[in-house]
Amino acid sequence: MKARRWILSSDTRLAEIADQVRGCQLCRLAQSRNKAVPGEGPSNARIVFVGEGPGFHEDQQGRPFVGAAGNFLEELLASIGLGRQDVYITNLVKCRPPGNRDPQPDELEACTTNYLEKQLEAISPDVIVTLGRFSMERYFPGEKISRIHGRPKSVGGRLVVPMYHPAAALHQPSLRETVVQDFARLPEWIEQAEQLEAQPSGADDAPEQLSLF
Ligand code: URA
Ligand code: SF4
Repeated sequence: MKARRWILSSDTRLAEIADQVRGCQLCRLAQSRNKAVPGEGPSNARIVFVGEGPGFHEDQQGRPFVGAAGNFLEELLASIGLGRQDVYITNLVKCRPPGNRDPQPDELEACTTNYLEKQLEAISPDVIVTLGRFSMERYFPGEKISRIHGRPKSVGGRLVVPMYHPAAALHQPSLRETVVQDFARLPEWIEQAEQLEAQPSGADDAPEQLSLF
């Protein structure tokens, strides 16, 4: 009963956050966006993917990773037996930076403290996969993605796995195999993270685990 109530309330919480995002005016990106892109996926997802920000197609549709980078992300997910419906997908900033410019520090700060952090609180995933260097920078400040991609670290009780952005692999074909290889190890890390998560809790209230594999 307890687990069920928890799932319902995190669903409601995510929906509330999404509503706030759609009407948000907290930073200048509100002025140029077409549609804000809160993110999507099940509220009990064990893995959350965090990209940088919506691009052209995402801004048109209000959905994350629906353009070329999204197609590649779906391919990568399929390569480990997962689909979009199994994971939560979102971005650091929820509105498209004009012309796909880099998100600015104040935009990142406003959007992550008000939305991304709250989404992560509601979902409470075992694993966070950062896509690209901006997303990596949140958890691995000052690091270089070329050095740490595919090397997970435990941050605040969660396993954070830095990966190259799928769009980078599309523009730089030599990265493609690296991304595929990093992805291939994800199931192993998810399993490890779930075991870590399961250990300290008593039998009674252990959260229900998704059997992904
Ligand atoms: N790139 C991102 O970082 N996020 C998207 O949603 C799409 C492309
Ligand atoms: Fe609000 Fe984030 Fe959009 Fe800025 S990017 S307007 S903080 S939802």
